[in-house]
Amino acid sequence: MVSVRGLHKWFGPLHVLKDIDLTVAAGEVVVVVGPSGSGKSTLCRCLNRLETAGQGSIEIDGEPLPAEGRALARLRADVGMVFQSFNLFGHKTVLDNVTLGPTRVRRIARPEARQQAMALLERVGIADKANHHPAQLSGGQQQRAAIARALAMQPKVLLFDEPTSALDPEMVNEVLDVMVSLASEGMTMIVVTHEMGFARRAADRVVFMDDGRIVESGAPDEFFAAPRTERARDFLSKIL
Ligand code: ATP
Ligand code: MG
Repeated sequence: MVSVRGLHKWFGPLHVLKDIDLTVAAGEVVVVVGPSGSGKSTLCRCLNRLETAGQGSIEIDGEPLPAEGRALARLRADVGMVFQSFNLFGHKTVLDNVTLGPTRVRRIARPEARQQAMALLERVGIADKANHHPAQLSGGQQQRAAIARALAMQPKVLLFDEPTSALDPEMVNEVLDVMVSLASEGMTMIVVTHEMGFARRAADRVVFMDDGRIVESGAPDEFFAAPRTERARDFLSKIL
C-alpha cells in the first residue's frame, strides 16, 4: 500500500531524512516513535506531499506521488492526515468540515455527502455536534471531527501525527478508542505517537526513528520488551 525507498530529505543544509525504507501493507498499522527532531513529522508530510522528497521514491498503491494538479488533490484524498492541532476550518460547522472534501475533490453530491458525514460523526460519537462550530467542541471532540473528516475521503491510508498530544489527559482515550476501532476494521494506518498503550493494543509494527534514520522496526512486544539498540533503550527509558 505504501512503499518508501531510499528517501532523503534536506531542509537547506539540514539532512533530516536519511535513506528511509518503509513498506506498509494494506491493513497494517505502523506506529512511529522517536525523539523530538528525528524526522517523524517530515516523513508523514513527505507521504502526502506536504513536503517534497529530496531523493528516493514513494509509491502509494503502486503509483508514484503526483507532483501537482488534480492528481495531487486525489493523492491527498487517498492519504488522509490527522494532525496534532486538528486543523479544522473554524468558520464552518463540523458537518461542513466533513462534507467539504468529498463534494469538492471526490465530486460526491451534497445530500449524499451529508448523509455519509452524519454516519461518520455517529461512528466517532459526535453526531450531536454536527451543527456546532469547532470552537464549541472539546479538544477530544475536535480531534474526532478531524478523524471523521479524513475518513470522509475514503482514504487508502491514514496518517496520524501525534493526534493526542495536544489533548487534556482525560480526552486522550476517547480519540485512541476511535483509532483502535479503525485499526481493527482493517484501515491502513501510520501513527506517530508516544502512546505506548495504543501501540501495544493496535500496532502490527513499531518503527523507531533517530536522527533521520529508521533504527529499529519490529513487533510491539519485542520492541518494548527488548529493544535492540542503545538509542531505542535510552528513548524508551525516558518515555515509559
Ligand atoms: P517532534 O517529535 O518534535 O515532533 P519530529 O520527529 O516530528 O519531532 P520533524 O518535525 O520531522 O521531527 O523535524 C526533523 C528536523 O527537521 C528537525 O531538526 C526540524 O527542526 C527540521 N525541520 C522540520 N521542518 C522544517 C522546515 N520546514 N524547515 C527547516 N527545518 C525543518
Ligand atoms: Mg513531529
